[in-house]
Amino acid sequence: MKILSRWVKRSISQEVFRKRIRRLLRIYLNIYDDICMRCNLCVSTCPSHKVIKDFNPRKRVDSARRVLKREYKRGDIDLLFTCLLCGSCKISCPFSLDIPEIVYLARSLLALEGEAPEDLVKIYFKAEREGNSFGISREKIDKIISETSKIASEEKPRELYVPGPLDISLYEDVFINNCELLKEMRIRWTVSSEAVELGGNIGIDMSRPDLGLKILNNVLREAEKMNIKKIIIGDCGADYKWLIYSQRFFPDLIYKPSYNIEFVSIYELFMRSFSRYIKRRDVAIHDPCSMTRTADLERSYLKLFEKPNKPLNNGLYTLCCGAGGGLSIRRDNDSLSKKLMNEISCLRLRQLIRSSEDIKMITSPCIKCLTAFLTASLYIGYEYEIEPLSNILLKCVKNV
Ligand code: SF4
Ligand code: SF4
Repeated sequence: MKILSRWVKRSISQEVFRKRIRRLLRIYLNIYDDICMRCNLCVSTCPSHKVIKDFNPRKRVDSARRVLKREYKRGDIDLLFTCLLCGSCKISCPFSLDIPEIVYLARSLLALEGEAPEDLVKIYFKAEREGNSFGISREKIDKIISETSKIASEEKPRELYVPGPLDISLYEDVFINNCELLKEMRIRWTVSSEAVELGGNIGIDMSRPDLGLKILNNVLREAEKMNIKKIIIGDCGADYKWLIYSQRFFPDLIYKPSYNIEFVSIYELFMRSFSRYIKRRDVAIHDPCSMTRTADLERSYLKLFEKPNKPLNNGLYTLCCGAGGGLSIRRDNDSLSKKLMNEISCLRLRQLIRSSEDIKMITSPCIKCLTAFLTASLYIGYEYEIEPLSNILLKCVKNV
């Protein structure tokens, strides 16, 4: 009860978000209308268009326009909430028109006005109650944080490692492996039950910026309370996207600590300590949209490989794991979103397998991409391993 009351007290009125988003959406749509020359290059690279012809970026912009005018129908909600926010359309556009941002703003407006798909609305209730994206119980969080804090540095911490909600709910072993790697680096880091994600899953993928900001602001307050100078972002791609989008759209609503707190990717840290540690040639690495195309990480994780297989990001339909934009979170199993996710992730997995004759293992720095590939491997009968990058790295570090 204590947690819930604090959560509610700090809430920013939804009306503030609605007004802001309406204004931003109008500006973005005007820019699009002025510049777009209807060449359809964005359509040809959209992974959802590959699976369902009408699900393409330009139709999504039309839906966003109807949302702004309050003239939308059920089909517009489906179109917007099946966008993977992958950014393929943006990079193929000669003017780099940011369609994912238009989609994101339109669906956030819908979600804030209570018009999100039903399965997402149920998740919102849970997230509001528990204060995290997936509604994970306080007991479960406390249990795993108490386990991982035993691995943390015993000295007064300077850095706070914030994992993602999937590490807490599904992939505890990955969370523990990441902690083991941080321990090998001998930095002064810690974890906290008040900071188990940065809010990206609910803020971006489920399109509730108000809830995402509550989580991000709680983490910043917690870091300040602990006198932390640096926050280590974990392996959840949605959190990387959220840090960029929240800064872009709601900079004034982000909590400002009394001193500067820096964010650093866990993979940038790994790269600094374990540069060129992975000497295997049989691993194909997937390049997550969140870390490179959105957060511009410069693929620091590739530098962990002595001779990496290049990510296949230069052809049609090659950019997406199929799980972005909340598709992996959706609960309605018969829905279009599940169909899209499964077909796109199978396509991507096949590409990764075909990237070299030597491939025996697929990896990704983003835990959500891994989840999509694990499901896809069941569909296509992939017989090799699919492993989180940190697991491979830990094995290499321990074997040396
Ligand atoms: S972000 Fe990806 S899924 Fe969404 S419209 Fe653009 S290319 Fe298609
Ligand atoms: S690629 Fe760019 S200019 Fe061409 S149709 Fe798409 S948004 Fe318009």
